[in-house]
Amino acid sequence: MSRVAYVNGRYVPHRHAQVHVEDRGYQFADGVYEVVYLHQGRLIDADLHLQRLARSLRELRIPKPLGDTALRAIIDELLTRNRIANGLIYMQVTRGVARREHAFPRPGTRPSLVVTLRRTPAFPKNLEGWSGAAITVPDQRWARCDIKSVGLLPNVLAKQAAREQGAVEAIMVDADGTVTEGSSTTVWMVDSAGVLRTRTLSERVLPGCTRAALAGELCDAGIGFEQRPFSAAELRAAREIFLTSATSFVKPMVRLDGAPVGDGTPGPVARRLFEMLARRMGGGLNR
Ligand code: PLP
Repeated sequence: MSRVAYVNGRYVPHRHAQVHVEDRGYQFADGVYEVVYLHQGRLIDADLHLQRLARSLRELRIPKPLGDTALRAIIDELLTRNRIANGLIYMQVTRGVARREHAFPRPGTRPSLVVTLRRTPAFPKNLEGWSGAAITVPDQRWARCDIKSVGLLPNVLAKQAAREQGAVEAIMVDADGTVTEGSSTTVWMVDSAGVLRTRTLSERVLPGCTRAALAGELCDAGIGFEQRPFSAAELRAAREIFLTSATSFVKPMVRLDGAPVGDGTPGPVARRLFEMLARRMGGGLNR
């Protein structure tokens, strides 16, 4: 069955899904996006993602193209038309199509909305196979990384650098030596004293929905963690490093810049938290 996408009010075959050359997303990266994971036909943390989408739009003063109910109806229609049970939903909103001019177009310009759906492999069953290597790179992004902007060039270059070095993620380090986040993930670690930590939220990092969901699970389970910045040197000394995102879930990093993290295998904390998220989604690990 051919894929179907939603583009500005129409359901179209994915191969014909197009936006205008003067879409401000195309010309200025003047837009925002969200990615929601779909597991066995269920959207995971959709509320959190829709809230963050609304916030990103507000911060950039892009009008909301639709209410959440209408947006969910589009997603439902795409699920039906594409018949995909495990995958990811991509939503992008830009400031719309207008004559190329840096300043905002005239009020009333319709924001562009694109929603696509892509099949992904089922939830991982084996943590060893799911783990990978990371590298560190300088964080070269703008000052509002809390907005999920489609302006991702530094993230693209960082991820490509990782790929060229046989790694799966690039962990970005700020000019002050502190770790910000991965090119598309939140970074967590178990530090050398055994404390589970992730960076404080600020304008330097995206407030991850998976981070929020995991933080809730940790609170419910009575597991303590600290939100406190850490340096690249602390990361190198960590017992465990793992990443979270809607599509990475909990992903252990077993090598950093070519050196093993801890004993070079997924650690017990990452394993436990992966299982927490898997249970929450109705999945589970093969032991
Ligand atoms: N940080 C960055 C830069 C990201 O791009 C992402 C996800 O795309 C995340 C963190 C994790 O966010 P979430 O858990 O909402 O997927």
